[in-house]
Amino acid sequence: RDGEVGKAQQAAAAGEEAGGQPTIFSKIINRTIPATILYEDDKCLVFRDVAPQAPVHFLVIPKRPIPRISRVSPQDTELLGHLMVVAARTAQAEGLAEGYRLVINDGKHGAQSVYHLHLHVLGGRQMGWPPG
Ligand code: 5GP
Repeated sequence: RDGEVGKAQQAAAAGEEAGGQPTIFSKIINRTIPATILYEDDKCLVFRDVAPQAPVHFLVIPKRPIPRISRVSPQDTELLGHLMVVAARTAQAEGLAEGYRLVINDGKHGAQSVYHLHLHVLGGRQMGWPPG
């Protein structure tokens, strides 16, 4: 029975991630829905989070829709490095000289809500540790 539940959950997760349905972030990339875009190149897009959790809160996403960090493959190594370099450069441009936090939420326990990989960059206030 646990096996059946497990399978159902896997199927649901696969459906959610399969890319059958474009996520809201695909629509931001396509300009179907608006966002405040801070940076763009051929591989990634940076835009402000619509529900900011800090004075500065933006997201760095690959244009290729990798669903989540736990699904990356070795061929994504260069792209992931690029996302982090862009995150750091944009944080500097946003004036986060006192530091900031990078966050990647993965799956249910990570409280991921949009299944298109994204780096959160949060700054402009003192962060606490451990995170919730
Ligand atoms: P997650 O929980 O998946 O790590 O984070 C998803 C983030 O995307 C959340 O912080 C949420 O506020 C943000 N978000 C969800 N929908 C939109 C949207 O339509 N526009 C923007 N700019 N951010 C969004």
